[in-house]
Amino acid sequence: MTKFSLKNKIAVVTGGGSGIGKSICLTFAKQGAAVHILDFNLEAAQETVQEIKALGEKAVAYKCDVANQANVEDIVKKVAENGTIDILINNAGIAHVGNIEAVEEADLDRLYNVNIKGVYNCIKASLPFLKKSGKGVILNIASIASTVGINDRFAYSMTKGAVLTITYSIAKDFIKDGIRCNCIAPGRVHTPFVDGFIKNNYPGKEDEMFEKLSKTQPIGRMGKPQEMADLALFLCSDEAGFITGSNYAIDGGFVTLNGN
Ligand code: NAD
Repeated sequence: MTKFSLKNKIAVVTGGGSGIGKSICLTFAKQGAAVHILDFNLEAAQETVQEIKALGEKAVAYKCDVANQANVEDIVKKVAENGTIDILINNAGIAHVGNIEAVEEADLDRLYNVNIKGVYNCIKASLPFLKKSGKGVILNIASIASTVGINDRFAYSMTKGAVLTITYSIAKDFIKDGIRCNCIAPGRVHTPFVDGFIKNNYPGKEDEMFEKLSKTQPIGRMGKPQEMADLALFLCSDEAGFITGSNYAIDGGFVTLNGN
C-alpha cells in the first residue's frame, strides 16, 4: 500500500451504520485506520464493525446521538484514550421533504439538531485531540443543496448550507493547528436515506421517483456510496495535504451541467 494509506490513524465516523458512512468506514479500515463509529442505531453500527473485523481490520461501535453534546463528549473522550484523533468525518444526517409551508417548527428543530448542531458537537469535542494529531483532518458531508436551490427541501437545504460555511470557518480558524477541514457535496447517492424518503413521500410511485431522481444527475444515475468513500479517502489522506477549506462536488454534473 503506497498511496492513500491511513495506517496508524484513528478515525471517527458519525452515522457509520448505513449508506455513505458505512462505505467510508469500510474503505478507511481497509486502508489501515482504526475506525470508531458513532451512530444512533447501535445495531447497524455493530454490523459495520463485524464486516470490518471479518476483513481483519479494526473498528468499534458506540451508540451516540450527535445532537446530544454530553453524549458526544463522553464518547469522543473514550475514543481518544491515547490522546489523539486524526480524522473526523461528520456524516450523520437526516432528510426532510417540503417547502417552508410544509416545515413545522419541530421539523426545523430536528433538522438543525442533527445536521448542524451535531456537526458542531463533534468538532468541538474532537478539536483538542485533532490538534494533538498534528495532521488532523475534518471532512463534512454537505450536499448539492448547500449551493443550489432544490425543490421542496427547505429545512434540509438550510442545514446543508450551514455545513458548507462551518467548513470554511473551521478551516480558517484552525489552519494554524495543522488541521485541514473540507467538505464534499454529493448529488443523489443510492442509500437507505434516499430509499427511505422515496418510500415515505411518494408511496406507490417508488420506481417512477427513483428513475426521476436518477435522471436529475446529468450523468444519468445516482452516485454510489463507494464513490463518496473514495473521495473521502483521498481528502483525508496525507496525499491531500495541500487541500483545506474546499468544497468538492461529487454529483454527476448536477450543479454545473443542469442548465440546458
Ligand atoms: P443514511 O440514512 O443511509 O445513514 C445515515 C446514518 O446516520 C444512519 O446510520 C443513522 O442511524 C445515522 N444517524 C442519523 N441521525 C443520527 C444521530 N442523531 N446521531 C447519530 N447517528 C445518526 O444516510 P446517507 O444517505 O448515507 O447520508 C449520509 C450523509 O450524506 C447525510 O449527512 C446526508 O445528508 C448526506 N447526503 C446524502 C445524499 C444522498 O443522496 N444519499 C446526498 C447528499 C448528501
